Amino acid sequence: MPTYSAPTKDLQFVLHEVLKVAKSDVPGYDELAPEFTSAVLEEAGKLATDVLAPLNVVGDREGCTLENGVVRTPTGFKDAYNQVKAGGWMGLDCDPDYGGQGMPHVLGSAVGEIFVSANMALNMYQGLTHGAYSAIHAHASDELKSTYLPKLVAGTWTGTMNLTEPQCGTDLGLMRTKAEEQGDGTYRISGQKIFVSAGDHDLSENIIHMVLAKIPGGPEGIKGVSLFIVPKFLVNDNGSIGARNGVSVGSIEEKMGIHGNATCVLNYDEATGYLVGEQHKGLRPMFTMMNEARLSVGIQGYALASAAYQNAAIYANERLQGRAATGVKNPGGPADPLIVHPDIRRSLMDQKSFVEGARAFTLWGASLIDQALKNSDDDAEGLISLLTPVIKGFHSDKGFDMAIQAQQVFGGHGYIEETGMSQFARDVRITQIYEGANGIQALDLVGRKLGQDGGKHVMAFFELVKAFIKDNNGDEGLSRDFLTPLKAASKDLQAAAMYFMAEGVKNPDNALAGSNDFMHLFGHVCLGLMWAQMAKAAGDALTSGTGDKDFYRTKIATGRYYMARQLPATAMHLARITSGADTVMALAANEF
Ligand SMILES: Cc1cc2nc3c(=O)[nH]c(=O)nc-3n(C[C@H](O)[C@H](O)[C@H](O)COP(=O)(O)OP(=O)(O)OC[C@H]3O[C@@H](n4cnc5c(N)ncnc54)[C@H](O)[C@@H]3O)c2cc1C
Repeated sequence: MPTYSAPTKDLQFVLHEVLKVAKSDVPGYDELAPEFTSAVLEEAGKLATDVLAPLNVVGDREGCTLENGVVRTPTGFKDAYNQVKAGGWMGLDCDPDYGGQGMPHVLGSAVGEIFVSANMALNMYQGLTHGAYSAIHAHASDELKSTYLPKLVAGTWTGTMNLTEPQCGTDLGLMRTKAEEQGDGTYRISGQKIFVSAGDHDLSENIIHMVLAKIPGGPEGIKGVSLFIVPKFLVNDNGSIGARNGVSVGSIEEKMGIHGNATCVLNYDEATGYLVGEQHKGLRPMFTMMNEARLSVGIQGYALASAAYQNAAIYANERLQGRAATGVKNPGGPADPLIVHPDIRRSLMDQKSFVEGARAFTLWGASLIDQALKNSDDDAEGLISLLTPVIKGFHSDKGFDMAIQAQQVFGGHGYIEETGMSQFARDVRITQIYEGANGIQALDLVGRKLGQDGGKHVMAFFELVKAFIKDNNGDEGLSRDFLTPLKAASKDLQAAAMYFMAEGVKNPDNALAGSNDFMHLFGHVCLGLMWAQMAKAAGDALTSGTGDKDFYRTKIATGRYYMARQLPATAMHLARITSGADTVMALAANEF
């Protein structure tokens, strides 16, 4: 059975030595003293190791069941969910006006990583609830807010997100679910939604479905979509649970992974719904939910890779096979441990350097959200809007690759369910697909985000990289091992961006054929920047002579690996991008 131990020291390093959160001027960050965040992360880590992680395999094996219209979660999930709820974790970064603890998003994200690594399927019930909270909080009327938010923040009720229909996935303009105005401020919702995560279960008293639907007579396509709250049970005027609403579970999906999370077909049969925001402007509030969810999916990508890596590293130190090429390392045993073999090291370094880089990138992204929200910083908002598809797409693609690499360290034992390594690979796979498949993230990046506000945000990113290089190139070691490769990679990214700007209008296929490579190129540059910043922080700590020297040396060595062995991928991505669409589009559809 796999084990999990929260990487609190690494999280603390990013929060305090790289991002220096406690010294930042973002409102609320003054509460994030190292002692405080350490206590929070330790507590989350205990819950994750003792309660959530042991249920991960249980959830995978048992899955969810549907009996007589009622969904049951796996053994132990309800008790574990109640412990998450009782610990106040559901409302950690929610508004105190509705019972939340008002902590910054950056801390919520750090805790989120821990819970996801331990048990992603269980954490999704919590994550979707947070998404519903955010959409209602940002866009609903005061009346709806006071009815729904306190219960969502407390976790007494949970949330879901309903976009997908059988004929409508990526293309939301094809939506058929309809919402008819009743003249009393409510709407009657009818239609079918599929693939609804946490769509029904036995963890909470009520489930608040956030449903996209079309009001008849509205604009065609995506412009005619509105967002509604549709509770499983209607809510009485005094806030108590009322009659059952017209929503029922058609079935739950059999799927590749995240078996502990109920993925439901939901049938809406004249269910009562309440409009969130304005008629036909449902995408705005839904995007509040989706942008948050996309960052959460980015966390899921590297958090599962992190859990898989931990187990691969333990196994590589224990499993005895073969002898080191440079001479016996374990003379007392029949063979040396796997970890002596350079190819196993390469794999572990790939995993470790990705996970730690992605962690820093995500927490930086979360801090940009805090700046945007709490400081009304438009530049921070523009930057995180640009980086969101990169965090989602790159972290989930790489997260899957790394989970596969961790499984590979186990050889055949990784393919056998008993070790739990297959589950990591199966569970993380969905992160590449939902919340907008990664192909769509890449299109969003190239087609929308790159040129947003006249390309201002991508220029700001390049300036940020340039400034960091300029400010630190007096440090010879940092300059040689980190800043020089970062500069080269950033140049590749700039060249790719220029190519898209030149080709985008002239020959859109050239841009679209290179979008996936661009997302990966961008992801590598971001992780390169993060590693340069982490190496700088670790170097400063070593110079000052305080703290755990081995920890800082390990950081620098891991960063060097990323810069030498991963970052050069930017040249390959650029070459692919600038080769254009000709080879991609060469065959006719019937030649496939
Ligand atoms: C386990 C699970 C949980 C889910 N949870 C939820 C949920 O809670 N709520 C919810 O609403 N939905 C949910 N989904 C649905 C999920 O978000 C969609 O499956 C996903 O967005 C893709 O839609 P689709 O499956 O219809 O694929 P399609 O839209 O048919 O796309 C198929 C492929 O074509 C690509 N593609 C599509 N259009 C283009 C284009 N214009 N250019 C280039 N490539 C394109 C896509 O990238 C994808 O790879 C879930 C799905 C699963 C499997």
